[in-house]
Amino acid sequence: MCRHLGWLGDPVSVSSLILEPANGLLVQSYSPRRQKHGLLNADGWGVGFFDGAAPRRWRSAAPLWGDASLASVAPALRSGCVVAAVRSATVGMPIEPSASAPFTDGAWLLSHNGVVDRAVLPVSRSAESTVDSAILAAHIFAEGLDNLADSVRTVGEADPSARLNILVANGSRMLATVWGDTLSVLRRPDGVVLASEPYDDHPDWQDIPDRHLVEVTAAGVEVTALA
Ligand code: GLN
Repeated sequence: MCRHLGWLGDPVSVSSLILEPANGLLVQSYSPRRQKHGLLNADGWGVGFFDGAAPRRWRSAAPLWGDASLASVAPALRSGCVVAAVRSATVGMPIEPSASAPFTDGAWLLSHNGVVDRAVLPVSRSAESTVDSAILAAHIFAEGLDNLADSVRTVGEADPSARLNILVANGSRMLATVWGDTLSVLRRPDGVVLASEPYDDHPDWQDIPDRHLVEVTAAGVEVTALA
């Protein structure tokens, strides 16, 4: 399982979300606290954020802890909508920058924690990589994000051993599913964080139960059952 984090709220720096917290994605890359599958996340990382309506990404196939540049640039990257991830590659999957989340269709940024049998997904010409997560992302984009709950349920029925924790955002909306791994929410005065695991020990973090969908908009956070 990889670890991901999403932010929707006032503009904040990428470094305040992933590098500075005591247990942020940087620390989760070598010492995650809640990871059930895999010990660390050394197979790449990605930071995506919205600059107006445009999704921008910086992805790598190397460990986040060894990156020579992100710490210098991340304080200057400010956005009201961020999707970031660190990766633990599933056995047999390629390790390349294009296999690191977030994936995009030009409007949304999507990360996947988990694994899915690629044989249950339609063949896609728009997948960015042959990694299962990229093919799943292409499928979800094709079905449309308004149908995320149905897409996850249908793929989960086709592959009962799949783990399908999705995190996806478009600048004004952030959606996440919990299907086989952990997800926590932190409501801050300046916005909302969704994360595979809390980035610190603040008492306001809440765990989302398995098989649920979370939707975050300016109107607030809505949690609904998936199964
Ligand atoms: N299956 C995906 C990959 O190989 C995601 C892995 C994960 O969540 N650890 O990249």
